[in-house]
Amino acid sequence: MLKNILSSGFTFKKEEYELKTKYVLLNNLIIILAISLTTAGLFRLLTDNYIQAMIDFSAIFIGSFLIFLLRKMKKGNYKVVAYIMVFSSASLILVSYYISNGVININTWFIALIIPIFFILGYKIALFMAFIFMFMIAMLNLNYMPTDTVNQLFGYVPLFLSIIFLHIYEYRFYQFTQILRDINNNLEKKVKEKTLERTNVLEEQKNILDYQAHHDVLTSLPNRTKFQKVIKKMMNYAQSNDDNLSILFIDLDHFKNINDSYGHDIGDKVLQITADRILNCIRKEDTLARFGGDEFVVLINNYHDKSDIEVIAGNIIACISKPLEIDTMTMFVSCSIGISIYDETIRTYTDLIKYADTAMYKAKENGRNRYKFYASNMTELAFEKVLMETSMRFALDKEEFIVYYQPQVDGKTKSIVGMEALVRWNHPKMGLISPETFIPLAEETGLILALDQWVMYTGMRQMKSWYEMGVSPGKLSLNISARQLQQEDFLEVIKRMLVETECKAKWIELEITESHIIENVLDVIETLHHIKALGISIAIDDFGTGYSSLSYLKKLPVDKLKIDQSFIKDIPDNKEDAAITNAMIAIAESLNLQVIAEGVETLKQQKYLLEHNCNLIQGYLYYMPMSSKKMEKILKKVKER
Ligand code: C2E
Ligand code: MG
Ligand code: MG
Repeated sequence: MLKNILSSGFTFKKEEYELKTKYVLLNNLIIILAISLTTAGLFRLLTDNYIQAMIDFSAIFIGSFLIFLLRKMKKGNYKVVAYIMVFSSASLILVSYYISNGVININTWFIALIIPIFFILGYKIALFMAFIFMFMIAMLNLNYMPTDTVNQLFGYVPLFLSIIFLHIYEYRFYQFTQILRDINNNLEKKVKEKTLERTNVLEEQKNILDYQAHHDVLTSLPNRTKFQKVIKKMMNYAQSNDDNLSILFIDLDHFKNINDSYGHDIGDKVLQITADRILNCIRKEDTLARFGGDEFVVLINNYHDKSDIEVIAGNIIACISKPLEIDTMTMFVSCSIGISIYDETIRTYTDLIKYADTAMYKAKENGRNRYKFYASNMTELAFEKVLMETSMRFALDKEEFIVYYQPQVDGKTKSIVGMEALVRWNHPKMGLISPETFIPLAEETGLILALDQWVMYTGMRQMKSWYEMGVSPGKLSLNISARQLQQEDFLEVIKRMLVETECKAKWIELEITESHIIENVLDVIETLHHIKALGISIAIDDFGTGYSSLSYLKKLPVDKLKIDQSFIKDIPDNKEDAAITNAMIAIAESLNLQVIAEGVETLKQQKYLLEHNCNLIQGYLYYMPMSSKKMEKILKKVKER
């Protein structure tokens, strides 16, 4: 309640305590003055000075009014009240001066006059005026009551004391607020410093997180997310500035083999080196990103024409295929690159990336270690591929596959010594589809396992039936995917098939493509030995295309080499092919292996092969691949002869 009165009912903010003190002081003083003057009034009554008593009693009303006014006026307008106080005190001093016939005997009212002056004009002026008043009163009173003047002067002591106290109070308060302000400023400074420090740390953390979200940990290259942002921006720029923009989608060839054979640490190093090599082939302003795994993507803009891109792609291929020296090991990797070029038909950046990806797959299909530009028919082909893949899954159940047989002939005696089982797909809409088209797809999807086994089973049953008939089909060569050899149960599968079809092991030969063996030599070697132990012979298909060291030949339980048709095609005219063919025949001889030439179409080729001791021949010169019915007729004819 008292607090409420002293602060005039206002609530002051922290920074307003100077003002608050003014209010508290003023209210305090008004109350003290009112009480003092009322007490003085009581004394006047005792001395029968009634008029002066009335004047003194008025202090209680004036004081209450002033306090009331302070509460009612707007916060901060206390000086108006001080003016009223000056005015009312001065008026009452004058009134009492006249009624007491020019004697001034009213010290307290002077205090009530000087104090508001202190609030209005400050300490120094109030003190100065107090002196003026004192002398003025002394001079006036001297005329009437000279003896009492000294007493009068002592009566003013409270006046000075109150002003000095007020000043001290105000000064102390000033100091106090100064200290508070300093503390406050210090605190504020510290808070600001801390906040800044915090903000910096947060900013740093944000940057780190941002970096991690947009970069690949292994190579520190931008990742897919970051790349998408860049490409979006660049596509907009290219659109409005008619700039060239191109994407190179780079994928390492057979990177899985590196991981599988050397381990992931080496694989990681290969990726890091690859990233550096690509960076060396592109300009600073081009963007290289890693999309994950062995996929890298380069964004190139602001180039002159397509030939610039060809040069860059060629350089990247050349750089990547340089030998890699890691931990005293030397290894080789190559890459395939798909390229898409931005034009107005491409609407989204995802399309641009997708096209480069499609082109990259085409580059792989075309033999890897090359680049390929995207062409619109690639998407159609990819679409066809998807269609084919789906229908292939049902083709086995629907019995759409058929096995053709192509005889293998002893060139000297012209007799059939064996035959190769070659699968075909009799598609209800597309007709007879060549294995060249669907085998790679079957390899990709894993369907090759079931398909090969079906061909094997069909071929074995056929052999049993022919042998039962009394004709001589010789040995049946069955093409199998290297994936088949990696299946744990493959040996069991063969054994079961032999039992079920009653086909003899010696009637069968398995053909494995050279490149497949080399890629997986460690995985397949044991299985091959087991197969061989069953009595089944083993041939290496497409021999000469694997670009490999021949040392593996000694380790593998191989019986026969099939010289790839690409070498046969141009012999004897092409001297190099002829030399290679001779070399392959020599290798077979020295390792005590049989050798057969495939794809023999002309008498010239046949003659050359026979002259060079390659007697076994498979090719259109003798027989095309044919259905089992046709094959059976031929076998029967041969028997009759
Ligand atoms: P491959 O095992 O090297 O088979 C030889 C290919 O050469 C066959 O092609 C055959 O038709 C063809 N050919 C035979 N003689 C001549 C000739 O004188 N001139 C020419 N230009 N070509 C000749 P096809 O039947 O198209 O088979 C292609 C490939 O598909 C095969 O090559 C083999 O790798 C694969 N393949 C076929 N059937 C199967 C199978 O059942 N399983 C697996 N995994 N692969 C198979
Ligand atoms: Mg073959
Ligand atoms: Mg072949």
